Amino acid sequence: MTFEEQRRQMIHEQLQARGITDGRVLAAFLKVPRHLFVPKEAQREAYADHPVPIGCGQTVSQPYMVALMTQLLRLQGHERVLEIGTGSGYQLAILAELALEVYSVERLPELATQALRRLEQLGYLNVRITAGNGSLGWPEHAPYDAVIVTAAAPQLPQLLVDQLADGGRLVIPIGPQQAQTLTLVEKHGTALQMKEITSCVFVPLFGEHGWPPE
Ligand code: SAM
Repeated sequence: MTFEEQRRQMIHEQLQARGITDGRVLAAFLKVPRHLFVPKEAQREAYADHPVPIGCGQTVSQPYMVALMTQLLRLQGHERVLEIGTGSGYQLAILAELALEVYSVERLPELATQALRRLEQLGYLNVRITAGNGSLGWPEHAPYDAVIVTAAAPQLPQLLVDQLADGGRLVIPIGPQQAQTLTLVEKHGTALQMKEITSCVFVPLFGEHGWPPE
């Protein structure tokens, strides 16, 4: 099967079959070449129904989890979005297809550099990446219409809430390191509406507003 055929199968069997219905999200998954975001030796696994190691002890999340988190953000195309945990840059490429400007913070400089190079090679012009502690957000470009955290936090990081625009959506795995609850947070003025979506397992978000560094 070609990589495009594998993408179509992934969309049909892993995403649509589990309730991903946002047409723009599905189109982004068809377009973004996920196999270019994993190491060469892992390319044959790129479209499989599980996370894939990307080096530095990190993973790119399962396609369904990337799609679910993205769909929860309800992006229409005009938004400024912040991602915490760039990893391979795959989630960021999906976001770049769906929003106006996307920003991402990665703790490990090696991954940040690789992701930036990859996204440049693919021609994304609306993406900015920085290496640093994403548990503090990226205040220079706030407020964000949507924030997505792709590492697990012990509780909701207040600084990320502060950087969310009124009416904004934030999606984040919250809970102990072994297993978390994917949580959708919506900000309405000073009020926060929190909704538990599903259980999940992510690598830890390290830093002052995450877990203490190892
Ligand atoms: N979104 C990524 C992708 O599409 O490949 C996958 C992210 S991976 C599951 C989690 C990432 O969060 C790792 O790359 C890890 O280094 C990063 N991370 C952990 N703590 C962080 C922090 N405080 N700030 C920024 N990134 C962090």
